[in-house]
Amino acid sequence: MDKEFRECLIITGIICLCTGLFSMAYHMGWLAQDSSLLGTLARSIYGPDVRQEMNRLQLVKETTPEIPRITALCYHEVRPDRKEDFLNVPPEVFRRHIQEFKKAGYKFIDVSDLQQFRMGTAELPEKAVLISFDDGYADNYTYAYPILLEEQVPGTFFVVSGTVGHDNRMTADELREMQANGMKIGSHTVSHENLAEMGVQSINFEMRESRAALEKVLGKPVYALAYPEGKANDAVLASVKKHYDMAFLAEVSPEEKQTMYTLQRYGVFSWNEHIESIFRNR
Ligand SMILES: [Zn+2]
Repeated sequence: MDKEFRECLIITGIICLCTGLFSMAYHMGWLAQDSSLLGTLARSIYGPDVRQEMNRLQLVKETTPEIPRITALCYHEVRPDRKEDFLNVPPEVFRRHIQEFKKAGYKFIDVSDLQQFRMGTAELPEKAVLISFDDGYADNYTYAYPILLEEQVPGTFFVVSGTVGHDNRMTADELREMQANGMKIGSHTVSHENLAEMGVQSINFEMRESRAALEKVLGKPVYALAYPEGKANDAVLASVKKHYDMAFLAEVSPEEKQTMYTLQRYGVFSWNEHIESIFRNR
């Protein structure tokens, strides 16, 4: 065997070995990382890695088939500054998340799709993602809303009724404009205080009055709520059922069974460069 042929054989062997190891690492889920070199390479070859999330949703289907099988996300601020704020996802990263979900074959839904699912009048897509925002920050209108329009994706905004139009919060006019362009508005209570620490009367007030105030602004039914800080107890659950058709938590616990009033959402934070890492937020 001449020297050149032997070298060629060795190089081919090394390439095969590396490719094999890379492929094995991907299939073991080891490359579902944000911005590592191998993670980036895997994403460019295989697309965003949503297998872990698909497995979780399979579990939801088996344990609670009556519950919508969706990936729900909870954003807060979307603005280009304040990079140090962990609740802020910069606009370009927010757009990247949408594009990665598209690339992974997801369809985008909002609370009205869940309402139809609940009433048995519509099915949900096989891969469904719901994008929501808590607290009603002004940047949701300035930065997130134009991206949603451009990407033709619906968003669901959970607004604190008592702070509409306040400093750094969206105004009534902005909410109406967003609604007129396909966005959905839900309640995030009147005061954003932790409901699980309130008495029954206060809980009922927060549920009832936020809905009434938002419906007055929007001229349409408000039927979805997100619990402030994602916190609910038995008293909160008893009250929410009287005032809303569905309600959302702010974290995902795969072992906990969901109902229409304990729908789980992944929090999305400043460190979530790509969507794979969102599924690891617990
Ligand atoms: Zn909140």
